[in-house]
Amino acid sequence: MGSIVDELDLNGHPFGPQTLPYGSFTTPGRPEPRLGVRVGDERVLDLTAAAEPLLPEHAPLLEEGTLDRLLAAGPETWARVRAAVTEWLTEGRHRDRIVPLLVPAEAARPRLPFTVADYVDFYASEHHATNLGRILRPGGEPLTPNWRHMPIGYHGRAGTVVVSGTPVTRPAGQRREPDGTISHGPSRRLDFEAEVGFVVGTASRPGRPVPLAEADRHLFGVCLVNDWSARDIQAWEYVPLGPFLGKSFATSVSPWVVPLAALDHARVAPPPREPRPLPYLDDTALSPPWGLDLKLTVELNGHRLSHPPAAGLYWTAAQQLAHLTANGAWLRPGDLLASGTVSGPERDQRGSLIELTWNGAEPLTLPDGTTRAFLADGDEITVTATAPGPAGARIGLGEVRGRVVRWGT
Ligand code: MN
Repeated sequence: MGSIVDELDLNGHPFGPQTLPYGSFTTPGRPEPRLGVRVGDERVLDLTAAAEPLLPEHAPLLEEGTLDRLLAAGPETWARVRAAVTEWLTEGRHRDRIVPLLVPAEAARPRLPFTVADYVDFYASEHHATNLGRILRPGGEPLTPNWRHMPIGYHGRAGTVVVSGTPVTRPAGQRREPDGTISHGPSRRLDFEAEVGFVVGTASRPGRPVPLAEADRHLFGVCLVNDWSARDIQAWEYVPLGPFLGKSFATSVSPWVVPLAALDHARVAPPPREPRPLPYLDDTALSPPWGLDLKLTVELNGHRLSHPPAAGLYWTAAQQLAHLTANGAWLRPGDLLASGTVSGPERDQRGSLIELTWNGAEPLTLPDGTTRAFLADGDEITVTATAPGPAGARIGLGEVRGRVVRWGT
């Protein structure tokens, strides 16, 4: 008897056996959340239901229907659960027990896959930081003096992280008008930021920084992030303490968390750093390297805007983790670290509208003839990504999608 993977012809599919991402879902008439594994385009394996008969020693970790307990359980348990799921799907002897546990993907309504503990947004793309520096501080040095010495970041709002598909209400806030007066109202410069999210599993100890070499014991997986940004609110409020209400109204994440174990073939050397970072951030001798060759695509209302490449990010997730804990702060399961906007050197690799339209000075024309400097009500942004997998296969990261809803509706 053939395996499920053979029967469904999923070898080489982006959600094939080399990927096996985790998510949380409900189905019509069954409101209790279940943990699922995405299998191809059309199916979700109900892992919560499968665990009781097939993986009883780990069933308590999976019965809540979210990733929370599995995240906290640590890397050895992550490996055992992934090995078990791989075996169920790829060995023919499990076929008859697995088939009844497959849910049609169209019936699986995604939820936030894990409880977001803390949310930190970094600024790891040199091209993005340079573009923003040129736009916001013309004539000066585009990168601030600290930028090449540490991964710059800020603490965001965990409670407003939402799963893909959740409508995003246009935020309101204070804006400085061109004549210098201050007003309050709906943002006129709403933007997206295409980012990679890193999901923390294992906690760390207070007062004990996480060295680069231990990042793989703490980082569970990767998702896609859209860090919605109101540029007018942000520009007025961010001096001197950084982003606040221009970012905190909503952050969207993709529903399927791809375990780092699926991304071995995507590991690439990060770009060379000059000057050499301090020892706690110096990853020169780190093996495997922590650069990740994820290729992102951004669409506005189905029209492709750009293809940001994550492989070129200057600071890696391991360095972000090391820096975040370098002061003695500790990690909790469910911490979400976002890379910051991913932008490459080319125009069609920019991961935000502020860069693509150069702060509105060069509006985009869409196929329907309308133009955009920033997002209009009703606009839908979709970010997708894939990464290299084994034997020429691609790893699918799925998508993070969100539609802008008018303020006051
Ligand atoms: Mn951001």
